[in-house]
Amino acid sequence: MAMVSTSLTPAASQLSGHKSTIAVASPPLFSSLSRSSLKFDSSSSFTTHSVNSFSSSRRCSSIVAMAGTGKFFVGGNWKCNGTKDSIKQLVSDLNSATLEPDVDVVVGPPFVYIDQVKSSLTDRIEIAAQNSWIGKGGAFTGEISAEQLKDIGCKWVILGHSERRHVIGEDDQFIGKKAAYALGQNLGVIACIGELLEEREAGKTFEVCFKQLKAYADAVSSWDNIVIAYEPVWAIGTGKVASPEQAQEVHVAVRDWLSKNVSPDVASNTRIIYGGSVNAGNSADLAKKEDIDGFLVGGASLKGSDFATIINSVTAKKVAA
Ligand code: PEP
Repeated sequence: MAMVSTSLTPAASQLSGHKSTIAVASPPLFSSLSRSSLKFDSSSSFTTHSVNSFSSSRRCSSIVAMAGTGKFFVGGNWKCNGTKDSIKQLVSDLNSATLEPDVDVVVGPPFVYIDQVKSSLTDRIEIAAQNSWIGKGGAFTGEISAEQLKDIGCKWVILGHSERRHVIGEDDQFIGKKAAYALGQNLGVIACIGELLEEREAGKTFEVCFKQLKAYADAVSSWDNIVIAYEPVWAIGTGKVASPEQAQEVHVAVRDWLSKNVSPDVASNTRIIYGGSVNAGNSADLAKKEDIDGFLVGGASLKGSDFATIINSVTAKKVAA
């Protein structure tokens, strides 16, 4: 597994002096999993541990904690890949895969293949678009509106992906407005955030992620249909996956930010998924981290069996640690 050599320190040091605890209001969907309390201490490092584990983990070392209360969520972002024939094969592989029941599964085909996928893919898997227009449709050449996505059967839209931010040039406010409009049309939003390598190396990981989060928070009136995808840009499509510790570090900080800036309930209920070179070989180790509520997967989602393995890595949260 390739990993960037960047240490945890630049991000962790940004938490210096920061103290908070999230009170989790409702029980997690995984009844076998314990709840989590997040503690940032003034020594610039932080610890995560299960509330129940102080007493129970001694007796039962097999519990893997899940800090959020939502269902595991795995999305496949097919990007600008595929042909009618290759997508027919991928859909067939997904239809015949055995998938764990405790997971929300979504795939995001290119716009032009959404109808083909919608009419051939099992209802077990929902469909996401990879983008949507900022408002109602009309004279906007080349754009697709949220209303049209609903009309064709999409339930989700991926917004704020790094390729749209850094290749197309979408900014935080534009993305926030898109999210608000899509939510208003009853689409679920997979809201991506993530830092560039130079931002991580400059110790700005949290600053960048919090700024991107704030733009969503300023624009939306409810987080009920939002899944946050933390996708460090240096890990997307590079084969350089974040270590489970690097991903967990940011996920717990995102949850803490939600608790303080939105509400503890939203912090607990919002799924925070990781994306960036997730594959069939590394997903189980990532899934074991308590603040990782699933994945957004690019390259590996183009292979049905690999994508199924990633979906089924939810079992890593349930089995012996
Ligand atoms: C992505 O495009 O959201 C992504 C995570 O890609 P990959 O898995 O290929 O890094």
